[in-house]
Amino acid sequence: MGKLKGAFSSNSVFIELPVAKRTIKLRPYKHGDMKSILNATDSFQDAGEEYKIKDYLLAIGSFIGGLIEEDIMKLHVADVSFIMNKAKEISKSEESKVISTCKKCGNKNTSIFKLSDVVVEDKKTDDKINFDKVIFTMKDFSFQMLVDNSMILEKHSTVDDMSVFYANFIECVEYDNTIYDNLTVDELVNDLIDDMGVEEVDKIKKYIDGQPNLYWEDEYECKECGNKNKVVLNKLLDFFSIS
Ligand SMILES: [Zn+2]
Repeated sequence: MGKLKGAFSSNSVFIELPVAKRTIKLRPYKHGDMKSILNATDSFQDAGEEYKIKDYLLAIGSFIGGLIEEDIMKLHVADVSFIMNKAKEISKSEESKVISTCKKCGNKNTSIFKLSDVVVEDKKTDDKINFDKVIFTMKDFSFQMLVDNSMILEKHSTVDDMSVFYANFIECVEYDNTIYDNLTVDELVNDLIDDMGVEEVDKIKKYIDGQPNLYWEDEYECKECGNKNKVVLNKLLDFFSIS
């Protein structure tokens, strides 16, 4: 280690994860931590659709993973979003800016985003979904699952992508007094999901929609025309930007 290493040491903080409900240690990020993620963000924005969201998520994962003493892949996506924003808060400033476009005149307005104003929405109920003859036991939405299913965030995600996405949430299946907990994604998709009715698939969608997620909103009057606008952050990628 060099003689000067440690000259710019900084303090870690302890934070409570909103979904896992336990305390973890988080260190602020430094200039060096940001290189890989800034590269990934640039390629993501420049390349548009050609650049895979998966690479971007993996860059985020290794960036945040370097700031905590936890396996980020096992954490709930809402906890990862929360850590991302807490890291920004302790490393940069408590506030960041959200730019949105007025619906009436197209003027760009700035809102101030504070992590303390974020609500963690948890509509989650049961991890079991009961159908007539079958019971599914469902998984939580971990960061690993998001990385594995990043194709659903691509612009051209297909119906097949969605079937695979749903299959990934199924931990085990109870049918005819037998519990199947070793089913492959292919088996889940071909034998079950593609055979389900629309209303049955809706039960899976409802389970996924009920997963905890971060929610933030701001209502403002446009500086240009006075029109009342609402800006909402509630999508997965909304909370994953470094700027
Ligand atoms: Zn306006």
